Amino acid sequence: MLEVSDIWFSYRRVPALRGISFDVRESEVVALVGPNGAGKSTTMKVVSGLLSADQGAVHLDGRDIDRQSPEQVARLGVSLVPEGRHVFTRLSVRENLELGTVMGRADFDHWDGVLDHFPFLRGRLDTPAGKLSGGEQQQLVIARALLTRPRLLLLDEPSLGLGPKIVDLIYDILAVLRASGLTLLIVEQSLDRVLDVADRIYVMRSGEIVLSGRSTDLKESAGLRQAYFGIDAAGAVA
Ligand code: ATP
Repeated sequence: MLEVSDIWFSYRRVPALRGISFDVRESEVVALVGPNGAGKSTTMKVVSGLLSADQGAVHLDGRDIDRQSPEQVARLGVSLVPEGRHVFTRLSVRENLELGTVMGRADFDHWDGVLDHFPFLRGRLDTPAGKLSGGEQQQLVIARALLTRPRLLLLDEPSLGLGPKIVDLIYDILAVLRASGLTLLIVEQSLDRVLDVADRIYVMRSGEIVLSGRSTDLKESAGLRQAYFGIDAAGAVA
């Protein structure tokens, strides 16, 4: 479904992505993991149209989307849940959800199905979003993205800054979405969380993909932690 080929991107002259390539197949869950500054968020911005790559190509269903605006990419069925839970704090939960539908493909009939995943939202529709807890706000932004009926949902660090119980809840929701056949691309710093939900993992460091494979194969492999932490087989930090 998504094919990212040899993407290079620099912020002014500072390289953030140095020739990364990966793909996501229909109904697959793929995770990009890596430490701070690895280039994960930049990758999500390139895929969602917020940034345009300096070199390389992004194809969705074989169609080149790299020069498309975020709105055009959203219309093609790609929805981004950005890092940091961007809710409009003074607007009600309902208004925040409505914004999701105007930015993507409006589909109000779809509300019931989405709210089934987030039952607490039904009782809070008139509450200002700023009054929700961090975990509730994270669920609100995921619900907002789902209202656009995405074919590919991009999630940038959905567990960032949340307590372990809430993170469990968020990942339970992602597992349900996965079971429904939705295609997910998840960025995380925490390896342990994504290993259970992702079919495949790409490890990024310093703007490059240094390791990739099926989660089941990588789970027990020392190579995964070595790649993530930049430690070679002899234990020296790269
Ligand atoms: P984090 O988990 O901290 O968000 P990340 O893996 O998502 O890290 P990016 O945010 O993509 O990494 O950053 C990749 C590199 O690009 C880093 O060196 C970062 O400092 C730099 N960078 C990111 N955003 C900007 C920006 N707006 N202007 C200049 N440099 C940036």
